[in-house]
Amino acid sequence: PSTGQSEPWYPAPLGGTSKPWQVSYEKAAKLVDQMTLPEKINVTTGTGWSMDLCVGNTGRVDRLGFPSLCLQDGPLGLRFVANATAWPAGITVGATWNKQLMHARGKALGLEARLKGIHVLLGPSMGPLGRLPAGGRNWEGFGADPVLQGYGAAETIRGIQESGVIATAKHYVGNEQEHFRQSWEWGTPNAISSQIDDRTLHEIYAWPFAESVRAGVGSVMCSYNQVNNSYACQNSKLLNGVLKDELGFQGFVQSDWLAQRSGVAAALAGLDMSMPGDGLIWQDGKALWGAELTRAALNGSVPMERLNDMVLRVVAAWYQLGQDDEEKWPSLKDGGKPNFSSWTDDEIGELHPGASNSQEMGVVNHFVDVRQTKEGGDHDELAREIAREGIVLVKNEPKTLPLSRNGSSLNSGAQDGKVRVGIFGEDAFSNPKGPNACADRGCNEGTLAMGWGSGAAEFPYLVSPAEALHASFDRQTVEITDWKTNDVKNVDGTAAAQDFCLVFISSDSGEGFISWNGVKGDRNDLFPQKGGDDLVKHVAGTCGGRDERGSPLGRTIVVLHTVGPTILERWIGHIGVHAVLIAHLPGEESGNALADIIFGDYYPSGHLPYTIAQRPEDYGPTSAILTTPNAIVPQQNFSEGLYFDYRWFDAQKITPRYPFGYGLSYTEFEISDVHLANHAQLNISPFPSARPNSSIAPPAISTQIPDPASALWPENLKRLKKYVYPYLTSPPQPPRSPPQQPPPHPLSPAGGAQGGNPDLYTTIATLRATITNTSPSTSGPPPQAVLQLYIYPPPTPLFSPSNPNKPITMPVKVLRNFAKVDVKSSRTVKLDVTRKDLSFWDVDAGQWVLPEGEFGIGVGWSAGEIEGEGMVIKKL
Ligand code: BGC
Ligand code: BGC
Repeated sequence: PSTGQSEPWYPAPLGGTSKPWQVSYEKAAKLVDQMTLPEKINVTTGTGWSMDLCVGNTGRVDRLGFPSLCLQDGPLGLRFVANATAWPAGITVGATWNKQLMHARGKALGLEARLKGIHVLLGPSMGPLGRLPAGGRNWEGFGADPVLQGYGAAETIRGIQESGVIATAKHYVGNEQEHFRQSWEWGTPNAISSQIDDRTLHEIYAWPFAESVRAGVGSVMCSYNQVNNSYACQNSKLLNGVLKDELGFQGFVQSDWLAQRSGVAAALAGLDMSMPGDGLIWQDGKALWGAELTRAALNGSVPMERLNDMVLRVVAAWYQLGQDDEEKWPSLKDGGKPNFSSWTDDEIGELHPGASNSQEMGVVNHFVDVRQTKEGGDHDELAREIAREGIVLVKNEPKTLPLSRNGSSLNSGAQDGKVRVGIFGEDAFSNPKGPNACADRGCNEGTLAMGWGSGAAEFPYLVSPAEALHASFDRQTVEITDWKTNDVKNVDGTAAAQDFCLVFISSDSGEGFISWNGVKGDRNDLFPQKGGDDLVKHVAGTCGGRDERGSPLGRTIVVLHTVGPTILERWIGHIGVHAVLIAHLPGEESGNALADIIFGDYYPSGHLPYTIAQRPEDYGPTSAILTTPNAIVPQQNFSEGLYFDYRWFDAQKITPRYPFGYGLSYTEFEISDVHLANHAQLNISPFPSARPNSSIAPPAISTQIPDPASALWPENLKRLKKYVYPYLTSPPQPPRSPPQQPPPHPLSPAGGAQGGNPDLYTTIATLRATITNTSPSTSGPPPQAVLQLYIYPPPTPLFSPSNPNKPITMPVKVLRNFAKVDVKSSRTVKLDVTRKDLSFWDVDAGQWVLPEGEFGIGVGWSAGEIEGEGMVIKKL
């Protein structure tokens, strides 16, 4: 099909074909085989928005001890939940470039979820991937590159699932902006359609999902938008084809909240769970599944085999994560009830707040503190470490940081020997109304530490930068002045009275169901908000007074809290701006993490997870959000293909302000002895080995259509209004003739295991390099370096083996691996490169192809500072 059309891919591949899931599927089959039709339906369908205690709840199967599953947001912490950690956001985690921390955060987050009774955590987010620098939800994910997203997602998933909680890779796929993501928030008849060609899908947007499946993720959430004019939650090519066949996904696909737009079509296309269960309209109780799926199964329009597969996938994921263990899941005895409510902060609350005919009350919030446990250790400390490593130092010239606590590094000229420090900007201070003042953090007031929407969490506390700075400076010698707003009126005089000025600015965004100050989810521009640029210019221009030539005598440090790429040009070259720290969205430990860096207790080690341009338009075709519908189905053409962020800057030879991957330390590192172990030349086949046949058959359970009488309303059931039930009032007509089954779609040669054909992950080359710290120090924690590996494909055009007339263009370079290491004095680092890393997706062959020619494999500190080695690949 041409771009803009989605290929049909039927029937849905069955789960239970993968060795690591075999036992779970066997157990699941035993349970599912005993389920009645309504019980099966209950497992597939949510009970409706706010009908039970979590943001999503499946129906229960009490008779067999299968609980109502609690699904809860989100990627950075537990939404609507007290006494849980408000972790640094995904973008901050991406900026750490630290795989161990990604993992540790996932594990801690998963533990907190389990201790609250959450079965399915609605994260991590890896889509939006960051195609549009102004995309409202980019901060929930790890940065504007598929490989960085892929590692962030996979490590987070492994961590969450090690704690026994089902992770959710979301949002699949192409949900790159908030405007028109669905119809009802935006008043359009249809959701936006992301037009993504097959190569771009594979090499960019599906990449982190492939890594998620490879990590064994239990759930994938399909997104609100359409892809190639077919809704993502009923797009058979994406769900049946790419996800379940090619990537070998064994878990279940759940819809984003009301992203499901059809009943039978979605089922056949590969959707396994309807969330939160409502129909086309929010909380209308007219479910697309529930009783309608019961009907569809009885009249044959959804084959029993498909229904069984949906249920098996959910129940197998539950076993796979060990959720049948009563010690770890005490709520099992209570049908799965969590120990919190999403709908009230009081101890006692309604059990089914969405049902107007029920006022049933109970103890809903147990306020279990999950931040300090024997099992998990001190999560606040871990949150601080991650926040600290997510801070990127982009400027320190002339060298001003780190500061000394007593101010001695600040060269005061004052008579009383005191050093005067000014803290400027609302973003340094706590919101007087508290850190949770706006619902779902839907405003930028006070210091910014997370974005808004379902991806936000409640702060148990929030240490503001000002608080931490006040506590850190030695008050015998340092006098602090606070300027708590961004108001520039009279600020010059106050700045002039300081020796040293810290200015705090911010840029916020979030999910499209909240609009703040004209920001409808997506940012309106890439500049700091609330007059931040002006504040910096004023303070930097007057700090410490001026000399005869009009230059400021004091020094200014700028701290930026931001959801993503932010243009700094209005002041970055200002003579008064000595240092700039981009602290992203640090979560609860914001101020402490910042103080760790500012006072040099730790070396800064964050690197940008995106490119910072000089001008917004430098981002090219992706610099703007589509804010006016351009068709009945708003069309968003991903016409730039592979070329966004640094790939675009490379292709267009545009110099950014700071390249992707950039970040400074207080010391400098050198790279030496770069070499490729034994692989100067390789004779190797362009295609991976043949797709392995699975020796494991999906479990066989009965596909007989049950007696319709088994699906009728039971007597004496007290029905809650709008609650989603599986029962029918009268049996449906039997099908006149059995619906025709489509001929089976050929399987993808790129499939064969979780994450795709296992040969794609064969290591082809290993690069070694030595990193040396040029000014080693003997005290304190060692500095950390982030070594990034980029592949330079052979000179283009290349040609596809299956279509020798079609030239293939390649990006100048692509990130493929990275490592963060302590470097006290010197050490050697090894980074692997796989077949997939070197291949392109050949649309004609429907396969990854490793091209012939000379590759460059380089390492460096950013996309702008790379040195490397050549490697020649020859066709076998
Ligand atoms: C968001 C999801 C979220 C869900 C449940 C949706 O609007 O897009 O990311 O998990 O709501 O809150
Ligand atoms: C809910 C979110 C959901 C959104 C969808 C909000 O009311 O709180 O969870 O993502 O609606 O529009």
